[in-house]
Amino acid sequence: MSSLQVDVLAYEAPCERCSFPLWWVFGLLPSYRPRGEEFTTTDFPGAVDMARRVLAAPDGDTADIAAQLHDRPAWQRGRSFNPNRCGACGHHADWHVFDGILNRACHGGWIHAAVGRVPVLEWRAVRGRGQGIYWPYC
Ligand SMILES: [Zn+2]
Repeated sequence: MSSLQVDVLAYEAPCERCSFPLWWVFGLLPSYRPRGEEFTTTDFPGAVDMARRVLAAPDGDTADIAAQLHDRPAWQRGRSFNPNRCGACGHHADWHVFDGILNRACHGGWIHAAVGRVPVLEWRAVRGRGQGIYWPYC
């Protein structure tokens, strides 16, 4: 099965409850020759899964970040969702906070949290989805 390498992007900002410096995982992008429209936000299940698997890879040191990522609870409706929970206090900020983080990250200062290979077919199923933001740093 063919695969491609993707970057998991994060932005460091404090937890609004306990001030723990949290890595907010907000996006996915191909590592090589990415295009802005391929930018994929992590606010839907397929992208959360993919980000979590890359972060949890045994050769990395981001398993704790992977453990902070959660799927949308079944009762929650609406388009946007924040998959990140605080690793220190477990606080789960709502999507407005995630939206604010995303907005700040689009202006710079993001972190390459992890890199890993994913099946091409799986990437095609998720790429460019989420909030449909054109990533300005390609
Ligand atoms: Zn916290």
